[in-house]
Amino acid sequence: MVALQKFKNLKAVFQYYLSSPITHENVEKQLKLMYKTKLKPLEEHYQFHDFHSTRLDDADFDAKPMILLMGQYSTGKTTFIRYLLGNDFPGLRIGPEPTTDKFTVVMNRDERQRDIIPGNALVMDPKLPFKPLSRFGNTFLNRFQGSCLDSPVLRNISIVDTPGVLSGEKQRVDRGYDFAGVTEWFAERVDRIILLFDAHKLDISDEFRRSLEALRGHDDKIRIILNKADMVNHQELMRVYGGLMWSLGKVFNSPEMSQVYIGSFWDRPLRYDINRRLFEDEKNDLFRDLLSLPKNAAMRKVNDLYKRARLAKEILIHKDFSKFQNLNPKMLEAVDKMLSDDIAKLMAVIPAGDEANTEEDKMKGGAFDSVADNSTPFGHGRGEGADAGSGESEWIISREKEKYDKIFNSLGPVDGKVSGSAAKSEMLKSKLPNSALTKIWLLSDIDKDGMLDSDEFALAMHLIGIKLDGHDIPEELPSHLVPPSKRDICDPAFLEPETNFK
Ligand code: MG
Ligand code: CA
Repeated sequence: MVALQKFKNLKAVFQYYLSSPITHENVEKQLKLMYKTKLKPLEEHYQFHDFHSTRLDDADFDAKPMILLMGQYSTGKTTFIRYLLGNDFPGLRIGPEPTTDKFTVVMNRDERQRDIIPGNALVMDPKLPFKPLSRFGNTFLNRFQGSCLDSPVLRNISIVDTPGVLSGEKQRVDRGYDFAGVTEWFAERVDRIILLFDAHKLDISDEFRRSLEALRGHDDKIRIILNKADMVNHQELMRVYGGLMWSLGKVFNSPEMSQVYIGSFWDRPLRYDINRRLFEDEKNDLFRDLLSLPKNAAMRKVNDLYKRARLAKEILIHKDFSKFQNLNPKMLEAVDKMLSDDIAKLMAVIPAGDEANTEEDKMKGGAFDSVADNSTPFGHGRGEGADAGSGESEWIISREKEKYDKIFNSLGPVDGKVSGSAAKSEMLKSKLPNSALTKIWLLSDIDKDGMLDSDEFALAMHLIGIKLDGHDIPEELPSHLVPPSKRDICDPAFLEPETNFK
């Protein structure tokens, strides 16, 4: 009865609120009200919080997007956070032995006074969403902490480091708290779950498999990193990747596999650097995904509330109603309406894609700067290609000129030039299709005399290298690739050139 009275009052508040238009700015406020007025009364009436999920507080709706990192010992979780931040964080311990035995929330210092906040203080902070974790008891709270630092990355997200998981039953008993339960609690609330695996020793223990099961129903949040991939050669890496996909398929038995990113997420030299390009591209893809978190947080919250309401209804339908005095149709109706109408209205005002990318949502700092910054030759692995060397005073091809000159001289140049057919025989060794070689020829024979001098030949070899690296050949020769000897004659108004690749 008390719940019903509260429900009526809140409904009035909600209707008042709905009379103001729903906008992107008030989505989270609307969501909060929607929960309080429609779903929460139902949850409370049927003691949903006792048997399923704890009630949501304002802090749940206000919290920054969170990333949960999970993995067995020594898969590089803590190192990955350090890499993301470009910084150490308080309480950080890294080593080959089990080092992190705590759940550590790495968060922005804001106005907090301390570097390390113990678990029992974290769950008391009304601004943080961790209050419900107190039900996991003191043993857990002693293994829970906040790590605070000033970091531009943490202005937009918080990152949760978790204890490594060992194989064997003993480990589970020794923890003294419900590890899977805590994992499940976080999985329900975070925006991303990153699972790390070690390409160097890929074995999935029973306990890790069990904790992965706690992630069921949150597959859409999961991203997988096959880390330390530089520790194995390319053939082994293929085998490890296949093995990982096979194991994960068994654990998740979901038709849609989570995205897997292959790489080496730290700042050390690569042991096998044959896959450098792959790692760069994978890193950029992963970072793009993480960069989208702040702007997608509102949608995630709407989505999570939707899932929660569906689940509550499902549980009610399968419950024995004789235990309750009576089923309240009004409460069910309110939730039904929320599912069918209100949530759709909210979704309609949440901007999609780049529209949502406001300045303050952009993640900066740490490793994210390498994604955002295109001004260095190492900024964008994928976008580099023919751009490499732009802005440098030295002709980039002069670095490899000696090597190209050797080939050039072997082709029997006459008066410092090789004929079209001699150049063609060499260029065909690249196994590139004629379409690509034609394009390369047209860009390289700058003076359009149907022959290549040593500079033009070096340019052709350089462009072949760019193409073989998987980059596109530019439509026009960028000025930084023009040989210094040709800079004065490089004028697009030349006659229609001849080509040997028709
Ligand atoms: Mg660790
Ligand atoms: Ca020429």
